[in-house]
Amino acid sequence: MGLADKLASPQIKELEVYQSARRIGGAGNVYLNANESPFPAYKMPTDESWQRYPDFLPDQVARDYARYAGVSSASTLTVRGADEAIDLLIRCFCQPQKDSIRINSPTYAMYEFIAKAHQVAVIDIPLNDNFSLDMDQKLANKNKSKLIFLCHPNNPTGNLLKVKDVLSLAESHKDDALIIVDEAYIEFCPDCSLVGKIENYPNLVVLRTLSKAFAMAAVRIGFVIADESVIELIAKLIAPYPIPDPCARIALNALSDEGIAFMLEQRDRIISIKAKYQEKLADLVSVKRVYPSVVNFLLTEFEDSQTIFAELKKNGIILRDQNHIPNLANHLRITIGEETEMERLISCLSQLE
Ligand SMILES: *Cc1c(COP(=O)(O)O)cnc(C)c1O
Repeated sequence: MGLADKLASPQIKELEVYQSARRIGGAGNVYLNANESPFPAYKMPTDESWQRYPDFLPDQVARDYARYAGVSSASTLTVRGADEAIDLLIRCFCQPQKDSIRINSPTYAMYEFIAKAHQVAVIDIPLNDNFSLDMDQKLANKNKSKLIFLCHPNNPTGNLLKVKDVLSLAESHKDDALIIVDEAYIEFCPDCSLVGKIENYPNLVVLRTLSKAFAMAAVRIGFVIADESVIELIAKLIAPYPIPDPCARIALNALSDEGIAFMLEQRDRIISIKAKYQEKLADLVSVKRVYPSVVNFLLTEFEDSQTIFAELKKNGIILRDQNHIPNLANHLRITIGEETEMERLISCLSQLE
């Protein structure tokens, strides 16, 4: 046993590593496994010099994002992707071995993973069969979780939660919990955002990212939008120079009027590709069900997902396996790629039949 192993915190030793798409790996040439955009991002900056430390926090990025999101910049914090926001929130509000968070499975795996890494308990109140929130208030109120994580639209199921359910949770927990609404995919259904409700429900905290519709997963920029009191607290915990300058400049490009228009155009292309291939998938014999989706991926149930997953992989097409998730046996998550990639997927699947 090495020294690191001997000294490690027990909860870290026991921790099952979060299986990100890149960690799982798989060599292919059609990557439909990480909900990235199939298109390149808006203009990258060149000819810059990088010898100085960046701003403590890039003010202009928060200001421009706040303008895009229709909120005040004082209620907007720039972070290294929504994943960092999840970590900061849990570290800010939850004490190890004492506090808990609440999740509603199946949902994004990082909430549970980060909580466990910090020895914070996880209370799961599974979603209903139609993937809506279980609003049984007795259950909801019994536990005293300080943070309630909601994914809206939800990954991997692809549906929105009912806004009235989210607000009713915010209301019933207004004195004892923050309701974290992860809006990583909200560009695909912007009218359903909850940012406008923060004023009336100051315990709502919204997470955003440039990784999905903005096509900048590699740049690692996300945002927390919340009441200023929440933002100030999280900002205390942030690293000395959290946002690399090149990333801040790339983000500023993306948040210009032209950058936003570019993103919206690509989003609309993704939505129309989705509509077409949703039907083609549903027509396949090996596909049992394609769930309705408001986002850039399709949760799909197969007769035998393991064979399909393995055969596609042999052909260089990488999907995201959901088979290990309770209630999602035989399900795969398919990110909407470019038309040519989707065409290859369908033709491979048809050949397997
Ligand atoms: C992709 C994703 C994230 C991670 O976003 P980053 O900004 O890239 O860290 C967070 N939440 C959900 C629901 C996601 O699907």
